[in-house]
Amino acid sequence: MTLYRKNFNVSDCLGLYLLRGGKYWDLKTSDFVKADIIIDNGIIKDIGEFKLDSFKGNVINVKDKLIFPGFMDMHVHFREPGREDEETIATGSQSATVGGFTAVCPMPNTEPVIDNQEIVRFILEKGKNVITDVLPIGAVSKSLKGEEISEIADMVNAGVVAISDDGAPILNLGLMRRCMEYVSMFDIPLIAHCEEKDLSEEGVMNEGFYSTKLGLSGMPRIAEEIAVMRNIMIAEYTRCKLHIAHVSTAGSLEIIKNAKDRGINITCEVSPHHLVLTDKSIESFDSNFKMNPPLRTQEDIEKLKDGLKNGIIDVIATDHAPHSIEEKEGEFDKAPFGVIGLETAFGIINKFLIEQNMLTIEKMVEKLIINPRKILKIDLPVIEKNKKANLVIVQMNKVWTVKEEDFFSLSRNSPFIGMEITGYIQAVFNKNKVWVNID
Ligand SMILES: [Zn+2]
Ligand SMILES: [Zn+2]
Repeated sequence: MTLYRKNFNVSDCLGLYLLRGGKYWDLKTSDFVKADIIIDNGIIKDIGEFKLDSFKGNVINVKDKLIFPGFMDMHVHFREPGREDEETIATGSQSATVGGFTAVCPMPNTEPVIDNQEIVRFILEKGKNVITDVLPIGAVSKSLKGEEISEIADMVNAGVVAISDDGAPILNLGLMRRCMEYVSMFDIPLIAHCEEKDLSEEGVMNEGFYSTKLGLSGMPRIAEEIAVMRNIMIAEYTRCKLHIAHVSTAGSLEIIKNAKDRGINITCEVSPHHLVLTDKSIESFDSNFKMNPPLRTQEDIEKLKDGLKNGIIDVIATDHAPHSIEEKEGEFDKAPFGVIGLETAFGIINKFLIEQNMLTIEKMVEKLIINPRKILKIDLPVIEKNKKANLVIVQMNKVWTVKEEDFFSLSRNSPFIGMEITGYIQAVFNKNKVWVNID
């Protein structure tokens, strides 16, 4: 087996940098501003037009490139502690940086589970030295067993930004009610993976034409939709701030729309793969198309795209879920659910949504930069004089092919391998560090 290792050259952002000849997205006016940016020791020192001859520092030519505030992914899985062979906090963060994300939220289904303040501190400590901010999410129940509520207050004090049952949805309604009542005491959301296990059972893909054709057991859409419905009802009753993870069906979206119309305090997200791929992909029996919730149908995709446009969907989040090649290479039935997504997210969104006029840049900024931070109460990384440099430089029109050997993640389970996508991350500044991708 080939183990790919690449150099990841992050340097401390000491000294002066001049980002020259580009334009940046101003969150205050929701538009681009054409200007050079000077960064001094990680702080935006000046914005304007500067002469090169008097400048003594590093010059990054950003002509024909766009500068955005750093992206944020509020739903990732890093495998540390427990499965450091699949992804560590360091490699997962590298993967995030390469994808343009300056903040990520790792889900709690590690081994041991992030369900107490010691592990929260461990994650935060490991995240100190990387360029991307690592903001952990704590488990709803102890060891994600769905029996006892975890030490939520302690974890909030230690720094979790949300509570989630992702990876092991809470099935006991009484417990979910108590959890939501408890979480509503803190100003953080409960992020729910909506799945009725009694309905999804042993399913490995979407239940429909292709599951019948391929003879694989299906997960019906109602397994998701009933859970969405009941979680919304409990959230309304308990006044808990609810965020629904990875919405995949048109029906879920309809339920969420109705709830939002009634003024219930909920938000939701969609993953890039659910916006682009359908269950037809599974004809290949390639387990890189196996994820939970499963890939659905073209009709669902169209509805999800509408949901992004009309604001029912607040956030795009990757649900980056690394798995070892050995585990993913087995039979489709037995392979674990999940795909990696941090490094391809922007290229996919740009090619399939922005370039197709399905999503404006302004909406992309909402879903990838503003809304995740608003939901989790994180300061917006406004590009402004005297602010910390938290930004990403993007080459929008660069076409590149997703290759197995190019991933910075320790895992290779991407459904986009071999695909040509558009939009390339050229550099990332955050936390007084800089990563520049020289190509
Ligand atoms: Zn999930
Ligand atoms: Zn997940």
